[in-house]
Amino acid sequence: MRPAARWPLHPAPREGEALSSWLQRIAACYQMEVRDLLAHDLGHGQVDDLDIAPPMSLLTVLSQRSGIEVDRLRCMSVAGWVPWLLDSLDDRISAALETYAFQFSVLLPRRNRKIRIVARWRAWLPSQPIERACPLCLNDPAGQAILLAWKLPLMLSCPLHGCWLESYWGIPGRFLRWENADPSPRAAGEAITAMDRRTWQGMTTGYVELPRRRIHAGLWFRILRTLLDELNTPLSTCGTYAGYIRHVWEACGYPPRAGQSLWRPYETLNPAVRIQMLEAAATAIRLIESRVISPPGEQAKLFWSEPQTEFTNGLPTRERKQESINVWQEAIKAINKAVADARHNPETARSLFALAANGRRHDPESLERLRTEFSKDGIPLKFLSHYDPDEPFACLTLNNALYDKF
Ligand SMILES: [Zn+2]
Repeated sequence: MRPAARWPLHPAPREGEALSSWLQRIAACYQMEVRDLLAHDLGHGQVDDLDIAPPMSLLTVLSQRSGIEVDRLRCMSVAGWVPWLLDSLDDRISAALETYAFQFSVLLPRRNRKIRIVARWRAWLPSQPIERACPLCLNDPAGQAILLAWKLPLMLSCPLHGCWLESYWGIPGRFLRWENADPSPRAAGEAITAMDRRTWQGMTTGYVELPRRRIHAGLWFRILRTLLDELNTPLSTCGTYAGYIRHVWEACGYPPRAGQSLWRPYETLNPAVRIQMLEAAATAIRLIESRVISPPGEQAKLFWSEPQTEFTNGLPTRERKQESINVWQEAIKAINKAVADARHNPETARSLFALAANGRRHDPESLERLRTEFSKDGIPLKFLSHYDPDEPFACLTLNNALYDKF
């Protein structure tokens, strides 16, 4: 049998693009629907799980039509990511969750987590399809691709533009409606973009650079999933370590466990809850990296920039170094506490703003930029409406931390 002829037109897949998205763009070149392209050109009936496990026979004919290797086409679906992103596509493995998310620990010692057994569980595969995308990517007629990572509850922002992924209805390139009526892209915070950059690095290069060392992408996805489960642990079972979980949720401005009372695996949570969980994971990583919290989990150390032994050596110079680090840790802790408090306390908000505005109190442009930063941190701008540039700052937590120490 002769191999199928090449398509005269076929856009190149974008890095990380989902198979369904690429087929959609090819079908659009011929003014066809994907189902017609599958049926009449590729000899396949409706394929429901194009982005999870496309049939090998389909990949073979797609390879003949496009000249792209089968392996590369397979990586446009989740099947191409076994065993990195998930151990198996088989959902009948009873200890799958335990194996994936309970071998590692970041925020809690492993003994503090109750091992859960869930029937029919697969890592990262949502119970309902996810339709979220970057507004800037989809507004660019040359690159209207949906990434595979966006179809999984893995990322909150676009790895290229750093803006929040937004929910949409429809088919990109044909008809599309954004859930959020305001079409202007929202910039994601630094903690979120840093986490997503790592996830993207894992998906595109197979490894992730962490402060301590480079790790395999498979380990990154498991650490991230572990962290998400730790953040969903009932505080009553965390003993003295509950403070770490509480601290992370307070820093995000959300209730612990994003308000959940019953435990369910991350993949089956309500999409809005999952977004808060991912945001909390990003915040936890930032707090660990900046040493605001030093949780007991074994993998937490991967986020430290230097080996811990550097700080506990008994030499006098090292002791001095440790003391200065402790002072800064205290200061950072106090600032983070003040930011969390400023989200609902106007007095703290004004004091914090006065402190941050120090040195640029009579520069309206600079103050405006600062207001924008505060707003991004979740501090209501109405709290700053009575800001007096000559008022001294009086945030007790900050005064104690900064002035007693220096
Ligand atoms: Zn984008």
